[in-house]
Amino acid sequence: MVQIARLPRVRLACLPTALEELPNLSRALGGPRIFIKRDDNTGLAVGGNKARKLEFLVADALAKGADTLITTGGPQSNHCRMTAAAARKAGLRAVLLLTGLPVDTYLGNLLLDSILGAEVRFTAAGTPEEVEAGLQQIATELREQGARPYVIPLGGSNALGAVGYVTSLLETVTQATAAGIAFDRAYVASGSAGTQAGLELGARMVAPGLVVQGISVSRPSELLRALVACHANACAQLLGVPTAFAAAEIRVDDRYVGPGYAQITPGGIEAIELLGRTEGIILDPVYTGKAMAGLIDHIRQGLVGPDETVVFFHTGGSPALNVYTEHFQPKAR
Ligand SMILES: *Cc1c(COP(=O)(O)O)cnc(C)c1O
Repeated sequence: MVQIARLPRVRLACLPTALEELPNLSRALGGPRIFIKRDDNTGLAVGGNKARKLEFLVADALAKGADTLITTGGPQSNHCRMTAAAARKAGLRAVLLLTGLPVDTYLGNLLLDSILGAEVRFTAAGTPEEVEAGLQQIATELREQGARPYVIPLGGSNALGAVGYVTSLLETVTQATAAGIAFDRAYVASGSAGTQAGLELGARMVAPGLVVQGISVSRPSELLRALVACHANACAQLLGVPTAFAAAEIRVDDRYVGPGYAQITPGGIEAIELLGRTEGIILDPVYTGKAMAGLIDHIRQGLVGPDETVVFFHTGGSPALNVYTEHFQPKAR
């Protein structure tokens, strides 16, 4: 933990975020005590989990003398929106390589990218290797123009980004301990794997009994487990924590992805409406709605016992709701 304090870090997030109990949701599910970690309220341009990763990534960029951040994601990427905001706050340019077709009307996160003055480029969705090559190509081009670019990987997921989620886990356990609560399970939406990786390492450091459960929003479980273990190991090495993760130790459930990344599911819609109507909390269709659909289903299946205590990490994402409006119109009765 000394090692975390030594890492360069810029202040981007409003911390600590709240840890709240969800008694109405617990009652509605007839199940466990459920708490929510409000990392949707990190405060950076509407908030979300990427603010914690960017505190370390942007500090590294500044330490290396960068003047431009380059990153990638889908057209509704929360990560790209928050990277653009972090860049502006740090006095840097932001170039976003969005995988998808150009659109006529900017909505949701893309609208915010525009307001933040990010330079948006679209690329036909390719393999991860092609996208990585696209990022490097932009970096080369900018260097030739005399700029000093810094490339942040998809989702801000690498060893440094994962440190942000070690700190979130440590913060959450500190809050729980002060309130006399001990968590049995943590649920989180898992995409590019850095968030779950940080939580896994943090749990191993301060809460070894805590089971971290990732709900995949895109990748098959086997791939995602390997990716989480890889980032968790790199992060442990960076922080000098003497531990190692095997892919088989990582818990991921990929049954709630539905047709694919960013494609809304009936379970996700149910979860979004249930959280809204029981607790007044807004989830999103791409990440947290699917993660909550997973938690709800695990409770219904008895995979989470009624006497357990669960913490759900709310990682943000509500700006994307703007492009899913048709699924939330008042139903004809
Ligand atoms: C990026 C993101 C996640 C997933 O985090 P990863 O580190 O990419 O796994 C979850 N929820 C929201 C809202 C996100 O934007």
